[in-house]
Amino acid sequence: MGFCINCGNQHQDGVRFCRFCGTAQPSEQLLARLRAEAEQIRLLLLQMQQQQQAYAQNDAYARLEAMRLQAEAAARNQQNQQYRPPGW
Ligand SMILES: [Zn+2]
Repeated sequence: MGFCINCGNQHQDGVRFCRFCGTAQPSEQLLARLRAEAEQIRLLLLQMQQQQQAYAQNDAYARLEAMRLQAEAAARNQQNQQYRPPGW
């Protein structure tokens, strides 16, 4: 079963013209090609999404590492200040 590309009424597979509005329907060949193209686009979008997630994760790790290094540096600075010999 397919649906008319014009009026949306349901019709048998393989009909060339809609029996409700008379609009010519795309051939099975064209539909198969469009389905294949849609599937390719879907896979591409999925790939892009996965890449973006991977990038976002890497970015989060990088930011965490930068924060850790900053915290370490701050801790070292504080220690240096605490153990600074008197008279400085
Ligand atoms: Zn129709």
